[in-house]
Amino acid sequence: TPAGNVRVVVRVRGFLPRETERGAQCLIEMDPATQATTLLPPNDTDTANSRSKMRKVIEEKSFTFDNSFWSHNKKDEHYAHQEDVYNCLGEEFLDHNFEGYHTCIFAYGQTGSGKSYTMMGTPDQPGLIPRTCEDLFERIEAAAIETPSISYNVRVSYFEVYNEHVRDLLTPVKPNQPPYYLKIRESPTEGPYVKDLTDAPVRNLTEILRYMQMGDTSRTTASTKMNDTSSRSHSVFTIMLKQIHHDMDTDETTERVARIRLVDLAGSERAKATEATGTRLREGSNINKSLTTLGRVIAALADPKQNRPGKRSNKDVVPYRDSILTWLLKDSLGGNSKTAMIACIAPSDYDETLSTLRYADQAKRIRTRAVVNQDLVS
Ligand code: ADP
Ligand code: MG
Repeated sequence: TPAGNVRVVVRVRGFLPRETERGAQCLIEMDPATQATTLLPPNDTDTANSRSKMRKVIEEKSFTFDNSFWSHNKKDEHYAHQEDVYNCLGEEFLDHNFEGYHTCIFAYGQTGSGKSYTMMGTPDQPGLIPRTCEDLFERIEAAAIETPSISYNVRVSYFEVYNEHVRDLLTPVKPNQPPYYLKIRESPTEGPYVKDLTDAPVRNLTEILRYMQMGDTSRTTASTKMNDTSSRSHSVFTIMLKQIHHDMDTDETTERVARIRLVDLAGSERAKATEATGTRLREGSNINKSLTTLGRVIAALADPKQNRPGKRSNKDVVPYRDSILTWLLKDSLGGNSKTAMIACIAPSDYDETLSTLRYADQAKRIRTRAVVNQDLVS
């Protein structure tokens, strides 16, 4: 099986009103020719002071990723719209799904950097998830006419990991009842999975978007009740696409299955917040376990020892099992999947952006081994 690197892209957003108000400076440059992303040192006096006091090295840093999406200034000719992000990444990943590969796209970055905007978007500016759903059903409807020997089966699930618990976003939370958490099981063939998770069949775009909306509402409703969980929770939207091909000549039926995972991670600043507070708060110690473990998993997978041919791989030491999220995404992170990471960055936050870009830079070295999931069924 050919191994492929995790595709890593970066996207910078525009100023929010509060940033414009304080006269924030854009610290990001992207070169459309080379796709290089450069982080510039802030030149305001506060930072200059703290620089000399703390002797911290604050300098220009450059990184190169597979794509750099400049979504800072709408008037710029290189501005990357939601549609551009989809055309550049989402569309190609959906091609892979129709070929029978599992894929996973996850958004990483500090709270407020544009993860949910990129993955879900707004009704006017839909993101990768609704665009993937739309393109999926457009292709299925076109295929119904062009290749009637193939039939399609689509199912959807949507859950979030909060505080090392899994919550089904497609079962309504009953008023005055605590949310119900699901258990993780492992199947010898399918690997880790969420037991009793709603796995809804969908026949068309309207149906899948209704589930997407339901899950998103469920996420944000809990979020306002429970003090902004969305910055602390990871949401995983999954589409299972099954293509059933019946060959009239040989009378054989083959099935191709692809899993499409779209993940909106908790705010990356949470990883450090946990380290800072230690285990003083019980909640604090759990909030970021999945995120800190994700960091360790990425570091272990990016270790060149993993990729050395002939050498016994240190797969066993990749700490997937140490958190719910990494355990559930095991396949997407280091196994049978084509995987992409979107590093979302704010335009004027040197420290957080540097940490996100370094994280993304490490993720570039991860290699996964995707195979076509095809079986003869009769
Ligand atoms: P996160 O999910 O990372 O916490 P959000 O996606 O909620 O961040 O983005 C924070 C704010 O910035 C939101 O108001 C969002 O609409 C806005 N935003 C983020 N990215 C963009 C973008 N590329 N273009 C326009 N607005 C954006
Ligand atoms: Mg968000």
